[in-house]
Order: sequence, then C-alpha cells, then structure tokens
Amino acid sequence: MAKKVMVFSAPSGAGKTTIVRHLLENFDNLEFSVSATSRAPRGQEKNGRDYYFLTEEEFRKRIENDEFVEYEEVYPGSFYGTLKSEVERIWAKGNVIMFDVDVKGGVNIKKIFGEKSFTVFIQPPSLEIMEQRLRARGTDSEQAIKTRIAKAAEEMTYAAKFDTVLVNDVLEESFAKAERLVTLFTGQKPKNKKKTAARKKA
Ligand code: ADP
Ligand code: 5GP
Repeated sequence: MAKKVMVFSAPSGAGKTTIVRHLLENFDNLEFSVSATSRAPRGQEKNGRDYYFLTEEEFRKRIENDEFVEYEEVYPGSFYGTLKSEVERIWAKGNVIMFDVDVKGGVNIKKIFGEKSFTVFIQPPSLEIMEQRLRARGTDSEQAIKTRIAKAAEEMTYAAKFDTVLVNDVLEESFAKAERLVTLFTGQKPKNKKKTAARKKA
C-alpha cells in the first residue's frame, strides 16, 4: 500500500471518534494515529491506545526537539500533536494512517501530506444537536462542554477547506458514506459485515 493518510476532523461532539472507530473495525489496513496530549485521560482511555498522555513539560520538550509532524494548543493549556515516530511506525507496516485531529490540525495535515492525504470534515446536523450529544456522552465536565461549544461555531467555518464534508445525522448512513470514502481513496473494501455483527454480539 502506498503511503497514504486519511483525516477526520470536526468540532468536539460531532461524532468523529464514533465514525473513525467504525472504520478501523471494518478495514484491515487502516491504523489509528495515536496522538500525544497534555490533557488528563478521560473515561476508559488508555495510554498508548487512545493517546500518549504526557505532562505539559514533556510535551513542550518534544516540541523543542522537533518531534512533532504537527501540534496545536487545542484548548488553553491542552496540547495535542502527532509524533513523527507515529507516522513512521504505521507506514513501516504498510498501513494507511487514520487521523482524528482538530480542524486546524486537519488543514495542516493536508498542507504537509498533499496528494497523499484525504481530509473529511464531520459536520453535526446542528450545534444544538451537537451539544445534546456531548451531554449524552457524559464524559466531560460542564465547564469542558461549555469550552467545546464556544469553539464549535468558529470550527464550523473550516468545513470548506476539507476535501469533503460528511453531515453526521443518521449514524448508519454516516458509517456507509465514510466506508465509501475509504474505498474510493484506498481501493480497499470493508470486511464482511456479517462477521463484524457477529463479533459485536459475542
Ligand atoms: P467526537 O469524537 O467528534 O467528539 P463522539 O464520536 O464522541 O464525538 O460522539 C459524541 C457523542 O454522540 C457520543 O456519545 C456518540 O455515541 C454520539 N453520536 C455520534 N454520532 C451520532 C449520531 N449520528 N446520532 C446520534 N448520536 C451520535
Ligand atoms: P479530545 O480532548 O476530545 O480527545 O480532543 C480534543 C480535540 O483535539 C479533538 O478535536 C481532537 O480531534 C483533537 N486532536 C487529537 N489529537 C490531535 C493531534 O494530534 N493534533 C491536533 N491538531 N488535534 C488533535
């Protein structure tokens, strides 16, 4: 497989983690790029699987050492970034890299990887629905939810900078659309659906 990257970006609560997880379960040669972050683990998150959790000091040291492909201070005091070592690790295995990054990160990755990249903006049906989803997720404090919503309106203005926009209304339809995008860009077909459904039940 040629060196390729797919990027999913969205305001927080739009559903990109849900869609990205679905794609990772259904395509063999897609691999999630584990970002580094200085924020604390949330819910069931595991170090090395969801993020590489670093202290702010460690994060800043790695910025100084030029270890990041890109990084952003997505929320004040909370840094997120893609380590160069992560990109090399996944490409060395012949896999397509799957990025879940904020909207600025998505635009930067397009600039860095150009034709090797395909960028998808996940858009919630409305900001009200996005807020409801964030509350229903139940993983963020009231303050964190407010911060995320306050940022969302500006984030929505980035949609036109992406290769395509996927409105995440009915989840099953979003899954199907996202699968088609992966197939178009990578040439891979999703795995047998029946097998996946059986595994989920088990
Ligand atoms: P993000 O990664 O963009 O912050 P998540 O994938 O965590 O968003 O989704 C936020 C919440 O909304 C989760 O609880 C998820 O289960 C739910 N969700 C995602 N997509 C939909 C959808 N199409 N319809 C209803 N709920 C959804
Ligand atoms: P969360 O705290 O909800 O996990 O993530 C907050 C935001 O940071 C999300 O929009 C997420 O996509 C983004 N993010 C995660 N990793 C990276 C990264 O490596 N780079 C950038 N720019 N954003 C990231």
